[in-house]
Formats: sequence, structure tokens, C-alpha cells
Amino acid sequence: MKLLIVEDEAKTIEYLQKGLAEQGCAVDVATNGYDGRHLALVHDYDVVVLDVMLPGVDGLTVLRDLRRAKQTPVIMLTARDRIEDRVRGLQEGADDYLVKPFSFLELLARLQALTRRGRTQEPTQFHLANLQIDLISRKAWRGSTRIDLTAKEFALLAVLARHQGEILSKTAIAEMVWDMNFDSHTNVVEVAIKRLRAKIDGGFSPKLLHTMRGMGYVLEARDEVEASAE
Ligand code: CA
Repeated sequence: MKLLIVEDEAKTIEYLQKGLAEQGCAVDVATNGYDGRHLALVHDYDVVVLDVMLPGVDGLTVLRDLRRAKQTPVIMLTARDRIEDRVRGLQEGADDYLVKPFSFLELLARLQALTRRGRTQEPTQFHLANLQIDLISRKAWRGSTRIDLTAKEFALLAVLARHQGEILSKTAIAEMVWDMNFDSHTNVVEVAIKRLRAKIDGGFSPKLLHTMRGMGYVLEARDEVEASAE
């Protein structure tokens, strides 16, 4: 996990750096709002731990500027007597806050909750060469050409896209797309793959849906020479 700590109090920095390093985290530190804002904007951190009271630019301004550009998870550090800072922080898009003084275990629990939340957010779009798939509108394109797919064909394409570059066996595909787990049904997969391939690869290049003899299928962009040999 890669973290940024934006905090000006040496003791707190030292305490956090030591604890987080022991957890195997990579930690960057900024001791004022200017540096914090700069680092948070140019690097992609898993979490930013952001103090409200900072020299230069205050934490709430850093948060507002960061939110205009990206959705990096942010935990605000606030003083016990500054309830309005917590409210404003959450309004400005902070994901969580901790009241000083806080225990390291409490911070760790919040960090874990935030990164778990982040990880469960599956991508909603896939791009592979000029194939584009939108899982929300359930549409697919090759370049600017819309590909007309049935619900099952789209489900099959989505499974292949989620596992792009991995060889999926017919049995695995049957389980994920049709919820079947009998090898005897794998001809259903063969037929569906054939139809899907005709739609997404027919007349387009590069070819993306490949058969791995005896192993299964893989969705990936290969170099043209190899693709045209199939
Ligand atoms: Ca401070």
C-alpha cells in the first residue's frame, strides 16, 4: 500500500511513519499544504492521510483541490474541539476522519476498510486494442462500430474481458456465464465463442479472441503476424 501523510507535527509523522513501515506500507511525507497538494496530484496513492491544520495551504483546501482532479481516498486528521472541520471535510469529499490523538490501530483499521472498499469497485469499462466494452450500458464497440450482442454473448465477452490475457477453460467459462458445471455442456461454450468471435473479430483487426487448443480461450491483443496466421 502506498500512502501520503500530510502533517506538520514531527512527533505524529514519526509515529505514523514507523507504524506504517512495519505494516509494509510505502510512505511519502509532506509537512505543508503546498507539498501535500503537489504530491497528491502527481502521484497515485492508495490513501492520503491529511491533517486539517497545516502551514501554507490548510488541509480542507488541499482536499478540495485534490477532489477536482481525482478520487484518491482521504482520511482527515482533525482536532478534538474542531467539529466543524470534520463536517466540512466530509462535505468536501473526505472518506473518513480521525480525531487527534488517535491510536495507530484505529488508523490501521480505517486504512484497511478504505482500501477494501476501493478494491471491490470493479472497473466498468474495458479497452483492448480498439475493442471497448461498457459494463453499465452493456454495449461494445470495435473502433466506432457498435457490436450488437445478445445478453449471453455480452456476459461471455464481459467474463473474457475481466480475465483478459488469461486462458479460460470451457468448464470455467460454462460456470461463470451459464452457471453450469458439467463438462458435457462445453459444446454450448464452443458455439457461443464462435458466434461472439464472428461479431467482435469478423472484419476487424487485430483479432482478439483466440483459441488455445486443448486449453480454452483467451481475449488478448497479439501482434498482427501471429493473429493473421490463425
Ligand atoms: Ca497540524
